[in-house]
Amino acid sequence: MPPGPEEASFDLAVVGLGGMGSAVAHHAAARGLRVLGLERFDLAHTRGSSHGVTRILRLGLHEGGYLVDMARRSLELWRELGEESGETIFVECGSVDLGPPDSSIVRSSLEACVEQGVEYELLDAAGLAERIPGLVPDPDMTGVLQPGAGLVACEVATAAHQRLARERGAVLLDRRRVTGWRPDGEGWRIHTEGGAHLAARVVVCPGAFAGGLLEELHGRVRAERQVIGWFHPITDPATFGPDRMPCWILDGPLGHFYGLPVHGIPGFKLARMRHDELVDPEDAPVPPREEEIEDLRGVLARWFPGANGPLHRSGTCLFESTPDRVFVMDELPGPGGVFVAAGFSGHGFKYASVVGRAMAALAVGDDPGIDLRPFRLERLTEAGATA
Ligand SMILES: Cc1cc2nc3c(=O)[nH]c(=O)nc-3n(C[C@H](O)[C@H](O)[C@H](O)COP(=O)(O)OP(=O)(O)OC[C@H]3O[C@@H](n4cnc5c(N)ncnc54)[C@H](O)[C@@H]3O)c2cc1C
Repeated sequence: MPPGPEEASFDLAVVGLGGMGSAVAHHAAARGLRVLGLERFDLAHTRGSSHGVTRILRLGLHEGGYLVDMARRSLELWRELGEESGETIFVECGSVDLGPPDSSIVRSSLEACVEQGVEYELLDAAGLAERIPGLVPDPDMTGVLQPGAGLVACEVATAAHQRLARERGAVLLDRRRVTGWRPDGEGWRIHTEGGAHLAARVVVCPGAFAGGLLEELHGRVRAERQVIGWFHPITDPATFGPDRMPCWILDGPLGHFYGLPVHGIPGFKLARMRHDELVDPEDAPVPPREEEIEDLRGVLARWFPGANGPLHRSGTCLFESTPDRVFVMDELPGPGGVFVAAGFSGHGFKYASVVGRAMAALAVGDDPGIDLRPFRLERLTEAGATA
């Protein structure tokens, strides 16, 4: 009989099997490592940051030009994952940044496209109405349309990473909350509520739970509650499908919103971009409130009236934000061999594939293939950093 996961010694333990951890497990298993994955909930739970059917992937990013190479590399890996898994992972429906011409989102997306050589089209209100029949633009609205952008089917992608990792021998355990780890011989003993495991290296991908698990991130990765709604179109549903509706980000008089075409479930998805509701991720999620759904309906009524039908689904999800909204991908201080990928701050899923590959390489001392200098932990922990 081969040893059970508690007696076996693994090359790599991955703590947290959300979007990032599942990608690490996949890429580590693909390198031939013996991988153990430990997840505190079910493998497809809705308490973290990676559920909700779809995510936007843009290449010209208002969050910073330094991320463009990562987005490009990630897109290649999503396409490879689609081929290997046989699943639809990426849909090239385009993405448009909308707002008045002086909007910071419109200007910074435009700058990023120009500086990084990302294909784009600048559209005025008439151009937007023609290209996106489901949108009723304001007369002064401008749009930066990136035709090569699209959506990532986040739940399908995470499940595909998990399945392929398991097919390569990874042991993925659900309902195993990790409580800590201690040096043990050449490696680490990882303690869970259901027993301990041995691994040479550890990659910790705890999402919004980072502050409770890692002293270094306590108070530095904060959980922010987000509300999402999916609404049935009331006009021709094809108008809101990926052939005719791109992903969108809207900076307007009602605030900052984003949405995606109908994909996976029969609802047009949208949410308000907000950072005003800090929560304890250990608490049971508070379901969407009536006024939060009405807030989304206000956007539909004004700009997407053909999608303002019955609510198909609603839910909440957590942003896992650092003070500067920049990720953390680094080795933790100490004897070495424990790494962290966290703080993806509400814009990380698009990079999960490249993060998985980079962290799997970093953990075994190989070239991560991307520049990890912007993501060092010490910028958050050094004296003077805002916690
Ligand atoms: C509403 C919403 C919209 C978003 N839109 C976009 C978008 O359009 N584009 C984009 O790129 N990004 C977007 N994001 C951000 C992106 O989804 C996240 O940055 C990303 O999913 C984070 O992945 P993660 O693996 O770090 O976290 P998670 O997926 O939450 O994974 C962390 C995992 O660790 C587990 N865990 C925690 N502690 C322990 C422990 N002690 N033991 C074992 N397991 C543990 C958790 O249960 C969880 O499964 C959005 C996020 C939200 C909430």
